[in-house]
Amino acid sequence: MQEPKRCGRACQFIRPDYPALEAQVHGRVRDPGRPDELHFGPFRRMLRASLRPPRDGAQWTGIATRLGERLLETGAVEAVLTVAPDPADRWRPMPVLVTEPAAMAQARGMRMGYAPLLALLEPARARGMTRIAVIGIPCQVYALRALQAELGLARLDVIGTPCSDNTTTERFHAFLALLSDRPETITYLEFRADYHVELRFADGRRREIPFLQLPLSRLPPDFFPLTCRTCVDYTNVLADLTVGYMGGEGEQWLLVRNQRGEDLLALLGEELRTSEPGSRGKRAAHVRGFLKNVERAAGGLPLRRMPGWLRPLMGWLMPRIGPRGLEFARARVEMKAVETIVHLRRELPARLRTMVPDHVWRLVEGYDLAPRRGEARVDQQPRRP
Ligand SMILES: Cc1cc2nc3c(=O)[nH]c(=O)nc-3n(C[C@H](O)[C@H](O)[C@H](O)COP(=O)(O)OP(=O)(O)OC[C@H]3O[C@@H](n4cnc5c(N)ncnc54)[C@H](O)[C@@H]3O)c2cc1C
Repeated sequence: MQEPKRCGRACQFIRPDYPALEAQVHGRVRDPGRPDELHFGPFRRMLRASLRPPRDGAQWTGIATRLGERLLETGAVEAVLTVAPDPADRWRPMPVLVTEPAAMAQARGMRMGYAPLLALLEPARARGMTRIAVIGIPCQVYALRALQAELGLARLDVIGTPCSDNTTTERFHAFLALLSDRPETITYLEFRADYHVELRFADGRRREIPFLQLPLSRLPPDFFPLTCRTCVDYTNVLADLTVGYMGGEGEQWLLVRNQRGEDLLALLGEELRTSEPGSRGKRAAHVRGFLKNVERAAGGLPLRRMPGWLRPLMGWLMPRIGPRGLEFARARVEMKAVETIVHLRRELPARLRTMVPDHVWRLVEGYDLAPRRGEARVDQQPRRP
């Protein structure tokens, strides 16, 4: 970036201003009359969806990359900015500016690591490109929106994916080594909404591991950096269209946030199967249990581990009795909110006031984490557009 000062404004982890950017991007802030907007940000409608046929190599069915392909096929944009696997390491994200529709296939799938995605905006501008689409995770999209007005683009389409946590590619390799004695053969990993991690291997084998049986207690406490542990934008609220899976009960989950998001969806036509998202179970007890564990871990105590004999039983029960569909998505957003408060209080208390938006305090209201003196921002009350 040629003007380094812009980074301070563009970084979501310094002094984010979600109400101002939501109003800029969607024409309004979160509507208190639509309770799910407190959790998921402004949206017009939510859908369960899948692409038919599902694309090979996609993380789910390939909606995100197919949208990029369609934008290029129809000539709506000149380039799609996204990440592809580094040729030397399939898990390492490498920013790419894609100009040919067929080349979107290389970007399919999820990688773990940080990619300086927006660094390619300047080369794109130097090539005279003014109509661009970006597919990115929330921290990339926040920066993009904060700088959008200065980019001089004639058209910008933003397809966002949710992101729970990210880590360095090196640390992710160490995690894979805990899951298999041949980690180099793992080609796919997903934390599914049915409380299982799915692994796929180069020889076509698949393995599902219940969350409760993951070797999480063997990971170092800073496995996820503080920025990810205190991220307040799980669902990518500044995207035109969020493409995830959390609320999809085994399918994908789409949040159409504005008219541009509707237009993006229309590009998929009959290829997209959609239905209403469901919602089952009750989240509060699960979020409370999670909070207890985060407090213990942040205080240096080991996680309260379930006795070994109970784990398989709970692993079987969780997908049946735990929150599902939209209730699962709400639970995960509240878990991220409690994690933000606990970790910042412990590690960087002076940052609470600048880093935590008002809506996050409201998400944790039911969990005895109300702001203490000096912790909340007074300028972050939701504003009317
Ligand atoms: C680190 C991480 C954590 C995630 N956590 C969740 C979650 O908790 N809940 C949820 O619903 N969804 C999450 N997602 C999104 C999810 O993995 C899928 O990308 C999404 O559901 C779209 O699936 P698809 O088949 O349509 O994507 P595809 O068509 O396969 O396309 C995937 C897109 O994601 C981009 N991408 C892959 N890795 C990265 C990366 N490291 N940084 C930036 N962009 C990347 C690719 O370039 C591609 O454009 C996460 C994604 C990442 C990268």
